Amino acid sequence: KIAVIGSINMDMIFQVKRLPQKGETLLADHYRTVPGGKGANQAVAAARLGADVTMIGALGKDGFGDQLMEHLNIEKVNTEGVMRTETPSGNASITIDKEGHNTIMVYPGANYDVTEKWIDDKLYLVEDAEWVMFQLETPLLTVEYGIKRLKALGKRILLNPAPAQILPDSLYPLIDIITPNETELSLLSGVENTDMGVQALLKKGVNQVVVTLGEKGSIAVNEDKTTKGKPFAVHAIDTTAAGDTFNAALLIALMKEKSMTDALSFANAAGALATTKMGAQSSLPTDLEVQELIKK
Ligand code: ADP
Repeated sequence: KIAVIGSINMDMIFQVKRLPQKGETLLADHYRTVPGGKGANQAVAAARLGADVTMIGALGKDGFGDQLMEHLNIEKVNTEGVMRTETPSGNASITIDKEGHNTIMVYPGANYDVTEKWIDDKLYLVEDAEWVMFQLETPLLTVEYGIKRLKALGKRILLNPAPAQILPDSLYPLIDIITPNETELSLLSGVENTDMGVQALLKKGVNQVVVTLGEKGSIAVNEDKTTKGKPFAVHAIDTTAAGDTFNAALLIALMKEKSMTDALSFANAAGALATTKMGAQSSLPTDLEVQELIKK
């Protein structure tokens, strides 16, 4: 069982011929809403891949909140830990032009209402989880508190440090796996070079650093060894939620006691599949789809 403590958003996607200029009004050619938010993406990705998942987070008492709650339930994520607050639900306005360039505005909204007290109140939901996954779209203080509290209860902790921000040094020794992409790694470590960045994080006390490398796949490094994951070539059209899918798939594979090499391959295949469809939770693959890509 996996618990996810993190964000839930509604993505509003506007497709336009070109991005609007300052002061300009444009008509969009297409519009749709797709459930997103890194926390919810990881929870739904894990559920589609067959895991028993509990989500701890917050939504507003608005229409988006109702839709997002219903969506999580349909995807078989346990939502007992999702509170409803007076703040509007988290959302993102995404504008995409013909070339695929975008501008994105994220309003954290109710995601910032996830407090230390809420984690304490919902601890019973996490009791039988082996792993807890965090990201950085909820307040850093809550993430820090949650990691400390759950680590003390013997849980294993995966932190996906996205969107990247500097973390307190005291947090690193509590993290079993940290999963930055290359940009996030250089921000966290303060060095550009990937190998040096990884070593810097290991020195801070993280057990395992897994770096996602886009189409090049991923690597996992701990004190003893470096493991490379086999990348999968796909026709990528939208990389939204590739990282989130990768994280969920990695944990599921490790929970099935796969070797790190096989776990990275499974996660790379899942991440690759998420790039072949538009949108966040509209693009998450099932276990069967991942198995098929690996077999090819
Ligand atoms: P993020 O989406 O967080 O920036 P990455 O771009 O590194 O992270 O993608 C996460 C994972 O998804 C990668 O490690 C890889 O396995 C897979 N992936 C992403 N982009 C592609 C791509 N163009 N082709 C194949 N796999 C991809």
